[in-house]
Amino acid sequence: MTIRPALRPGAVLLRRDATHLQIGTSPGFVLRDRPGLFSVLRLLDGIRDVRRIADLTATHLTEFDGNVPAIINELMAAGLVFDARNWDFPADPRLVGEARSASLTGSPPARLHHRAEFGLRLSTDKASTELARTTVAILARAGISTTAGDQTHLAVMLSNGEPGRQRFQEAMESGIDHVRVVVEEDRIRIGPLVRPGITPCINCHDLHRTDWDNAWPALMTQFGASTAFGSPPALCATTLHVAAATIAAEVLAHCDDTAGETTGQCLVVGPHYLDHQSWPVSFHPNCSCTLLAAA
Ligand SMILES: [Zn+2]
Repeated sequence: MTIRPALRPGAVLLRRDATHLQIGTSPGFVLRDRPGLFSVLRLLDGIRDVRRIADLTATHLTEFDGNVPAIINELMAAGLVFDARNWDFPADPRLVGEARSASLTGSPPARLHHRAEFGLRLSTDKASTELARTTVAILARAGISTTAGDQTHLAVMLSNGEPGRQRFQEAMESGIDHVRVVVEEDRIRIGPLVRPGITPCINCHDLHRTDWDNAWPALMTQFGASTAFGSPPALCATTLHVAAATIAAEVLAHCDDTAGETTGQCLVVGPHYLDHQSWPVSFHPNCSCTLLAAA
């Protein structure tokens, strides 16, 4: 089978004026019209292959006197037509949208196939459950589940307020990449995402904090303790969803091996859903985490 040409994802085919066609409106691409071209372009639905389109044109669109394969090649070179075979994901049709988006950004859709094997683990407490649930729903649409495989490629650790440090120490010792997500009152802090021995860790963050807040070590001993009293968060729905999308984006960046926003950085979403703050987290000279890379 030859390629299955499809009009640019999401673009609409329009008549611009008596002598031109237009594909899309943002801002859109203008083509010089010719007899039958509009009808030929309507055949580019991602289902028919080039041979079928050429046969249909020869049989039913006799007013068109152009070379169908050549025109399709030209339109593909111009980014107006794509090969829909790249969007075939019979095992997970939800990835079709991801693949169509990847085509427009120039990312090879084929890399999406490995999302099904990505080992994602989430841990939550009661107050962060809704945030985790929303994040999981977004990731499911992008082809990532929390049940794939036995290996953990990334652990997302959500909590209401700062959690106990034991879980981070265990992840460091096991060499598991992890990202901290802390719900704080009416906002959500994401990061840093830690690749043990490669990027700054939570202990680096704690040591930096201790440099300017000498009570931080005393506070840390109470994080996650059963005796700690915590008030439920005050998250509005819009902020929660933007934060969930941000967390999901970090997971996808990790899965796709691209640069995320929270490697060596904390990112805060809220209180308003458009509010974003970030600050860097560097290696602390007294943290031994960099020795892991040398081990
Ligand atoms: Zn460190």
